[in-house]
Amino acid sequence: MKCDICPHDAILRSIYCPRCRPLVATKAESKKRAAALIQDYDGQIDGFRCRWTKLVLDTNDRYGPLSLCFDHIIPRKSSALATSSILANSMKSDLGPEEFPLAIKHLALHHAGQPFDRDIIGFIYWAEQPIRLAAPLLGRALFPAERTSAAISKCDICSEPSFPHSIYCPRCRRFVFWGGHDHLPRVKALKMAWWPELRGFLCYYTGVLLNLMDPRNPWYMTYDHRIPGNDRTQVMAASWINSMKTSLSETEFWAVIKELARYLAEGGEFNRKVVRFKYWNRACSSTSAT
Ligand SMILES: [Zn+2]
Ligand SMILES: [Zn+2]
Repeated sequence: MKCDICPHDAILRSIYCPRCRPLVATKAESKKRAAALIQDYDGQIDGFRCRWTKLVLDTNDRYGPLSLCFDHIIPRKSSALATSSILANSMKSDLGPEEFPLAIKHLALHHAGQPFDRDIIGFIYWAEQPIRLAAPLLGRALFPAERTSAAISKCDICSEPSFPHSIYCPRCRRFVFWGGHDHLPRVKALKMAWWPELRGFLCYYTGVLLNLMDPRNPWYMTYDHRIPGNDRTQVMAASWINSMKTSLSETEFWAVIKELARYLAEGGEFNRKVVRFKYWNRACSSTSAT
């Protein structure tokens, strides 16, 4: 008997071959997985391609950027699945199937010099699950690192009136003392992002004014590491960009964005040689491939 998904012989008492069976059988959403694999099977290479990048997927390694996983086409549990690379699955995050290529295209245009239009993506599925990252409103108690006896009245970051006996204003101190032990790289990142004319902080990657109050907003201000794991390379970035950048470095991120944009415009196949995935540490996020 043939495998239900590919032309190989099925295992005895199974409808799947030895390759396809571990990807589908006894797994959650097995019928949806099988439907996705059938659609994304490429007979020419006798393998599966990522629906979003057309990359040939690795079915042996479980944790590489090009390992096979399944992606909810619409970021909802009820959605049908697409076969995907872990890379595309992580980058797509809560973007819809139309929003993902749109985001790629406009990020590539922005990288080539065009202003990023913040209204181009609707983010209709964004943050349906609560987001962990949120700078809490702080109490009146001062942190030792901000206390000053001198009569300082201007925030060290934005020059607006500071919090009593603090070197930071109420807005900036929330972000300075949120997360990690060393706050100085965060102060540096905030200073770099501060834009006095707009009285706000700009996203390092898009130049768009960031939201400071609503953690569910895709433009909410987060800290991104330009080099994953290196605190000294922190910059302010919109939460959706932070999600999309996954564990890529800044250079790798733009290389992937440019190559994805090229592939989406010209067709063919994503050239995996554009990036080495030096910091890769992601597993499949939306549907476990294991
Ligand atoms: Zn098969
Ligand atoms: Zn301030």
